[in-house]
Amino acid sequence: MICPNCGEKAISFSDWIRARNAFSTRCANCNVHLKANLSVYLNFIITILVALSLLPYADNALAYFDFPVELSKFKIVVLLPAIFIGGALGWCFGGYKIKKST
Ligand SMILES: [Zn+2]
Repeated sequence: MICPNCGEKAISFSDWIRARNAFSTRCANCNVHLKANLSVYLNFIITILVALSLLPYADNALAYFDFPVELSKFKIVVLLPAIFIGGALGWCFGGYKIKKST
């Protein structure tokens, strides 16, 4: 994620992937207040939709391996790769714009 103000890297991927930072953060370089642009929001929505659409398949996969433990937790684990790929795409194609102070 490049800062539109100073043109430097605004945030590391490991910080960015922690939910809230993706949508609103401060540039690590020039400290300007940044908010996510439209492509990040679109990517976020698509990732959620894909993850939800994979839920039935997660059930099938768990049934196939016959896991006896709390299934809801394993569903999250099965969905994590999909969510992570969505996050990586958001990181590659998304960006920030400068938040105007009101
Ligand atoms: Zn900056």
